[in-house]
Amino acid sequence: MVKVLAILYDGGEHAVQQPKLLGTTENSLGLKPYCEEQGWEYVVTSSKEGKDSEFQKHIKDADVLITTPFHPGYLTADLIKTAKNLKLCITAGVGSDHIDLNAANERKISVLEVTGSNVVSVAEHVVMSILLLVRNFVPAHEQIMAGDWNVAAIAKDAYDLEAKVIGTLGAGRIGYRVLQRLVPFEPKELLYYDYQSLPADAEKAVNARRVEDLKEFLGQLDVLTINCPLHETTRGIINKETLSYLKKGAWIVNTARGALCVAEDVAAALESGHIAGYAGDVWAQQPAPSDHPWRSMRGPHGNGNGMVAHYSGTTLDAQQRYAAGTKKILDNWRTGSAQTPSDIIVTDGEYATKAYGQREKK
Ligand code: NAD
Repeated sequence: MVKVLAILYDGGEHAVQQPKLLGTTENSLGLKPYCEEQGWEYVVTSSKEGKDSEFQKHIKDADVLITTPFHPGYLTADLIKTAKNLKLCITAGVGSDHIDLNAANERKISVLEVTGSNVVSVAEHVVMSILLLVRNFVPAHEQIMAGDWNVAAIAKDAYDLEAKVIGTLGAGRIGYRVLQRLVPFEPKELLYYDYQSLPADAEKAVNARRVEDLKEFLGQLDVLTINCPLHETTRGIINKETLSYLKKGAWIVNTARGALCVAEDVAAALESGHIAGYAGDVWAQQPAPSDHPWRSMRGPHGNGNGMVAHYSGTTLDAQQRYAAGTKKILDNWRTGSAQTPSDIIVTDGEYATKAYGQREKK
């Protein structure tokens, strides 16, 4: 019998109040009837850390693993060794760095994700986060909730987005959608840094300029938005040194992956006032520990923190799309039909995408 294991977050009362929360253990991506029809075992759990977790117990004989980046089941090389039957990993969403892709390749386990399923959801969150940092929204709101009224205290750190230089590190589906959405704000310039160039017509449509040197790219920015996957060469790409390339007072929005930035270096840059703000929804470990520096960091005026839990790509609209996409991938696998090529991250021992680093084909 085929065994499908899904690691999802618990919804509790919220899953009851909102049945569209498909990504919860309670609503199980809506896949229970489908698995039952096939006579498959479908195990759904949020228990994912440590050797006594349901994840580590059930991965040993699961054929298919479904995970989401929001409550990631970290499939390490060691766990892959124990997963004797595993053939397919499906990421319900976008971003499969929580799976050791090199180890998956060694075992010829396929890893697929629902490409594009939440890219608009994230791009909208990026634009919101840029605005809330640049306009100093969070302290302004906190002040009102606290019963205070002090315009000067807020306005001294509030700017317009118009005429700023904004750059995306990674100009794929999300990065490009961010650029598109920023055009009406009339920035001074839109820049991007990516080893893959945008098609000329796409570049022209948003009037973006590619900068090939990271230092030169960062040095021109008022706002940096990070939109590349996490892999060997992007881990910690924003660190003490690269932060120093940014102009004093720059703002950073990272909705890509927490581990792209060195947490302590970002917190130090914000606290010293070198950067004016950092916002995003991704953390190197999720759920983030209660003492993570990004929960409490603030700039010298108590401003500049726009962090939230990982939810930008799990809006109710996105959940519908990634639940449907997960079912499609599962059904293609069951029937032996071809998978949508853009959904494939690794298969047959090789990377099928150019987004996870510049790699030579074997
Ligand atoms: P994509 O594959 O369409 O684009 C990624 C781009 O990053 C590619 O153009 C690639 O060439 C570029 N890139 C890779 N390595 C780079 C490097 N070293 N320097 C510069 N550019 C590099 O992916 P996407 O759909 O735009 O998603 C990007 C990432 O966003 C995902 O991998 C995931 O980590 C994250 N994401 C987060 C959420 C969320 O809810 N916060 C949701 C979806 C995706």
